[in-house]
Amino acid sequence: MSRRVIPVADARTLPPEAAGAAVRPPSGEVVDALARPLHDLRISVTDRCNFRCVYCMPREVFDKNYQFLPHAALLSLEEIERLARLFVAQGVTKIRLTGGEPLLRKNIEFLIERLATLRTVDGEPLDLTLTTNGSLLARKARALRDAGLTRVTVSLDALDDTLFRRMNDADFAVADVLDGIEAAQAVGLAPLKVNMVVKRGTNDAEIVPMARHFRGSDVTLRFIEYMDVGTSNGWNMTEVLPSADVVARIAEHFPLVPLEPHSAAETAQRWGYADGAGEIGVISSVTRAFCGNCTRARLSTEGKLYLCLFASMGYDLRTIVRNGASDDAISTAIARIWAGRADRYSQLRGSAAVPADTAPEARRIEMSYIGG
Ligand code: SAM
Ligand code: SF4
Ligand code: SF4
Repeated sequence: MSRRVIPVADARTLPPEAAGAAVRPPSGEVVDALARPLHDLRISVTDRCNFRCVYCMPREVFDKNYQFLPHAALLSLEEIERLARLFVAQGVTKIRLTGGEPLLRKNIEFLIERLATLRTVDGEPLDLTLTTNGSLLARKARALRDAGLTRVTVSLDALDDTLFRRMNDADFAVADVLDGIEAAQAVGLAPLKVNMVVKRGTNDAEIVPMARHFRGSDVTLRFIEYMDVGTSNGWNMTEVLPSADVVARIAEHFPLVPLEPHSAAETAQRWGYADGAGEIGVISSVTRAFCGNCTRARLSTEGKLYLCLFASMGYDLRTIVRNGASDDAISTAIARIWAGRADRYSQLRGSAAVPADTAPEARRIEMSYIGG
């Protein structure tokens, strides 16, 4: 039987103004219902992946019968570029390409080339980056850099090869990813970040070896708490290792000192090695909600705009784009949708105040669909 867990019951209804009335040019400074500006856009360029990470695309769900989106449903690269430009005109300064595995999207370099030409409302180049599992990075790093990508984040959950193969469940070797990291560094994609999702009882024994491996290199290693995203990974709080424990475990071997955040909106808490061998970050998505500073919008592969990682519904921008809406009409839609945003799931997690559309029993979007 073929199954589709991901999307999303129905697109949310666009506010009436968004459908065409009261069209306004972009203001460059939209804020949501909780006074949070729109600064970041994550664009998922594919829902497919060559890995089957157990916490993201478990093979029993994402099997050979699983129906990925048909090509016609995907935003074209030109449609992505246009929407990205309109988001930037509304105040976005940072774009992250993600997926699924973004390096599987054909002609991703063309998209990067186009996005690299965009300028923020202040006339600055965008902070343009990409999150990848690293498996194709050795092959693609130079082309990505030449297209205008400046930096990259690589996901790596273990250095132990047997464990890594078990976690990606597609028999990819750690060496492939390490080669990708090296290739990215060699072409100057910097600063390079490595993200490790920590699942208690699965890969927490890898925390200290990972820290040891990347200490003293130019790579910033960041530990992410395993999150209750989507519905297919069978998430359980007992598998979350709080970031405070991660820091404590590393500090037993390598003393750490807290560092100031780069900015108020930064999701990672920074810790420096006391001996000057660089820094680590911890992203405490479960134990320390950062919704108050969440300035992120997410555009799905098929052009739905999601206001929260834990949403179950998105706003269908693809339809307005394909219906021939003007740039100003689309900008108005984006501004109206953002203005109505009150999402703060992580702050409300576990409380009775969680809105029905983000409750665990709602069919929330999957990480592989929206890209984190
Ligand atoms: N395929 C690319 C990759 O793995 O880097 C990009 C997409 S992936 C969905 C983005 C990030 O989300 C990865 O770093 C992955 O480890 C993380 N992720 C996926 N499921 C997660 C979960 N349940 N909790 C925390 N992080 C998760
Ligand atoms: Fe693929 Fe990334 Fe999800 Fe792993 S985390 S299955 S690499 S999309
Ligand atoms: Fe942002 Fe939603 Fe995550 Fe809160 S739970 S930080 S609002 S994505």
